[in-house]
Order: sequence, then C-alpha cells, then structure tokens
Amino acid sequence: MRLILSNPRGFCAGVRMAIDVVDQVLELFPNETIYVYHEIVHNKHVVGRFERRNVKFIDQLSEATTGAIIVFSAHGVSPAVRAEAVQRGLRAIDATCPLVTKVHSEAIRYARQGYQILLVGHKNHQEIVGTAGEAPEATQVVEHPDNIPFLLIKDPNRLVYLTQTTLSTDDAKIVIDALKAAFPAIKEPPSSDICYATTNRQIAVRQIAPECDLVLVVGSANSSNSVRLTEISRNVGTPAYLLDDASEVDLSWFPTGNETVLVTAGASAPEDLVAELCKMLLTKFGGQIEQRDIFDEDEYFAVPGTLRRMMIARDIDPETRKVNIHKAEITHDLYGAVPLTISASATNSGINSQSTNN
Ligand code: SF4
Repeated sequence: MRLILSNPRGFCAGVRMAIDVVDQVLELFPNETIYVYHEIVHNKHVVGRFERRNVKFIDQLSEATTGAIIVFSAHGVSPAVRAEAVQRGLRAIDATCPLVTKVHSEAIRYARQGYQILLVGHKNHQEIVGTAGEAPEATQVVEHPDNIPFLLIKDPNRLVYLTQTTLSTDDAKIVIDALKAAFPAIKEPPSSDICYATTNRQIAVRQIAPECDLVLVVGSANSSNSVRLTEISRNVGTPAYLLDDASEVDLSWFPTGNETVLVTAGASAPEDLVAELCKMLLTKFGGQIEQRDIFDEDEYFAVPGTLRRMMIARDIDPETRKVNIHKAEITHDLYGAVPLTISASATNSGINSQSTNN
C-alpha cells in the first residue's frame, strides 16, 4: 500500500492555542473544577481526554458553579453569552480563535455602518451562532442559494457578505456567486473569512486526491472543516471516508491492499490518531508512507490576555509558558521506524524537497 500523508494536516494554530489554554488552566488551578462552554474543539478524542482530567463541558452557563473558571471554545461565543458569564460571576477565559474574532469584528463594524450582513455558513454551527450574535438585527444566515429569495433586504446597496471560517471554498463560491448575481452591489469582506488552515488543507486534498484510490480524513463528524475535506475529495472524483480513529477502518475499502491512499486530518484532529491509522494500515498491508508537502504552516496564536494576567498574578512568566502543542509532524515517538519519503509539491516551491527514512 502507498500512503500519501498530506502536509498540512491536523492541528491549526487556533486549535493548538485553545487546547493549550485548557492544559494551562488545569495546571494553574489543580484544585478547581474547570468548565468549558461547548466542546473546546470539535474532536471527540480531544474532548474525551480532557473529560478524563475532570474538565466539565457544558452547553448552558447555568451548569457552572458561581465563581468558577469557564473557557469559551475556539468557535467563539456571542456577546450575550459573555454578558451572562459576567452576570453569573464566572471567571471567563476566551479561547476563541483570532481568525473567528476577526469575523466578529467585521460583523460589528459593518452593522455600525448600517449594512445588512449576509452570513454564509451553517445556521446551527456554534461559530455562526456566535458571529450572528454580534449584530443579530442586522444579520441573516445564508446556507444555500435557495435561501436568497427569502432574505429580507432593506437596501441592496448596503449589503455585505461574511462567511464561516471553515467552509468548503467550492461550496462558498457557489453561494457567494449567487449572492453577487442577486445583489450586484454587495460588499465583500476585506480578506477571505475562510481561514488559512481550512484553505490549505482543502488545496492539498484537491491537489493530491486525483492520484489516489481513496482518501481517509481523520476527524470527528461534527468538525466542519473535516467533513469539508471529504466533500472536496469526492468533488474531484476520489471516494473519501471520515473516521475518528483507526478502529473505524473498514477493510472492504481496500479490495487489493495495493491502493494509493491519501491520509489527512481536520484542523482539530490529534496527530497521534493519524500515526495510529498509518501504522495500522502498514502493519496490515505493508508498503510505505510518502509525506507530500504542499504548504509549510508556521502560524502561531498566543494564549489570551486573561490567562496571561492570571499567570502573572501567580508570579508565572507567561513567556515561559508559550503554547506547547505542536503542529502535525512525523516523529519517531509517534510513528516509530516507518518507511518514509518526504517530497515537496512542484507547484509550491517554498518547501525543500528531500528524501529521508527514520
Ligand atoms: S480552523 Fe481556522 S478558524 Fe478554526 S480554529 Fe483553526 S485557524 Fe482558527
């Protein structure tokens, strides 16, 4: 079997920061119950590992004890939730990804300028609920072009569209093109709201999947960007499966055992699960891993100011406690001595091509 391992894959900077926040809070306050509002990131293993360390994930702030620490997840919350946390006397630490916060800021700014906001995304996704909550009177969610005839538009010359950060770039284009056709004067966000991590992982799949028999995406079913990776693969004609871990592999996916398989992971999926999947497939079918470098990501988001101030109050220098969750890499600890080559994409020449074997 030939396993092509996509680079980039797995944890993005926002997810690394959010997970690190909970890790740091657990260390700083070992005797307190730590609450997290919704899943810190959309991955069942990440959540399960924190639950085993007694972190409580709640969907209502009323479930938290007065005065407790509450961490807001990477997907962001509305101002109403932030206000309720204050009113309940909770100590809030906001682990919202800065790229989600950017979209919140755009919503606030455009609403203040008198624009109606057409927010492209999945209506019930926590990120969309949070962003829409910044300017509820000015915002309408658009999931599909079919929604456009039902929008209540006051002035077609005072419209702007914004998007969820984790959409499929293919699907978003269809909705945005339909909005532009219906409202030619609609304003665009200053830069794409679909984040770098979503975009990069999708470009990698679009580029590599056509040479593969199938694509395996490690991620949870409620992870928007993970699901989108399977859709991108199917759009280019390659079957794709989403799986939480190696235990969900169905051997009937590999009728010959000689398949070429692209392995990637959503932005909230831990690398150890990817490694377990690769090792399981190699043990079963033999073969080798080829890491394909499409983009080398080096984004880094610092932990929030609230947490830094909590550290300083305890005489801890925040500079010594920088985010310590690493991006996905093939390490000997995780992968062991697998047969491995690493190659750069011909179209992304910023990465050095090399061949190695650990
Ligand atoms: S997927 Fe994008 S928006 Fe979401 S946490 Fe990661 S970097 Fe931030």
